[in-house]
Amino acid sequence: MIIHLKQSVSKEEAAKLAAHSKSFHIVYEGTNVLITGSGVKEVPTSLESATDQFWVFPNDMQLSAKSYMSKKRAVKIGKNTIGGDTMNTLMIAGPCSVESEEQIRQSSELLVKNGLSTLRGGCYKPRTSPYSFQGLGLEGLKLLAKMREEFGLAVITEARDATHIEEIIEYTDVIQVGAKAMYDQGILRACAKTNKPVLIKRGFGSTLQEFVQAAEFVLAGGNENVILCERGLRTFETGTRFTLDLCGVAWLQEYTNLPIVLDPSHAMGYAYGVPSLAKACVAMGIDGLLIEVHPDPKVAKSDASQQLDHAQFEKLLGELQPVANSVGYSII
Ligand code: PEP
Ligand code: MN
Repeated sequence: MIIHLKQSVSKEEAAKLAAHSKSFHIVYEGTNVLITGSGVKEVPTSLESATDQFWVFPNDMQLSAKSYMSKKRAVKIGKNTIGGDTMNTLMIAGPCSVESEEQIRQSSELLVKNGLSTLRGGCYKPRTSPYSFQGLGLEGLKLLAKMREEFGLAVITEARDATHIEEIIEYTDVIQVGAKAMYDQGILRACAKTNKPVLIKRGFGSTLQEFVQAAEFVLAGGNENVILCERGLRTFETGTRFTLDLCGVAWLQEYTNLPIVLDPSHAMGYAYGVPSLAKACVAMGIDGLLIEVHPDPKVAKSDASQQLDHAQFEKLLGELQPVANSVGYSII
């Protein structure tokens, strides 16, 4: 259930009304004050006189549902906007991990040279093994901030746990919640308390409903700047790293109001397949594409096999623009 309260209802009155039930949440969305909750089919009597508009939902996809807000949400990332009615596919590119100043500068130069403005690099890496490279941590965040300053790029990096959020919002523009962290309510709730864009990656064993519910945690917690990212599911197939769920993307486009980013790099797991998969993604008319690219992939400290080198990335970019144009989009 979502109730839009009348504009005449003060914040104090709204808080009192929301306190009527433990399952009600109060959400401030722009100038609107909303009460969300579940298991309610009609406006509770206690809220009747304060109610302006009322929605019911068949499940816990509420604030992210197109049936609530038919217009796609727009999220500002640096000087760009992702989603809304932009008809742009935002290229979010960079190495899997920030490894050194020299490396991340080369990545930044590649983006600038190609007219791109959104750099991604991991500093807190959620590795499966404790013996693998774990990321540069705060030192990496400072390098990203330096690149942001020098090159005017927007930067995005992932939070491995809730204690990273403060640092990440100080140094970067977008918080990435990784696939393994999608169920981590500590991270989601901490993201909800900021007003930074949050890019949530779908867990590789998560249903679409669970995925949008992770987004609901951030939306219902008061942060409207949520972006979904499909990055592949674990299936019986072992030839590729994961299986990119394009059916799921069509479902998200049909039923949610959130900008959607696709990540063919993690789905494929091997650089050879990334360009063709990326073209398939862009042909779906998507809001963003996440591509891992490294100055020298063979020495990359994480995800070496899937990262494109700079020449491969530039070739792909040239091939993607006409595909995007054919569905009315532009790569930016
Ligand atoms: C990453 O983006 O580098 C990453 C670790 O991705 P995922 O969370 O999708 O595995
Ligand atoms: Mn990676």
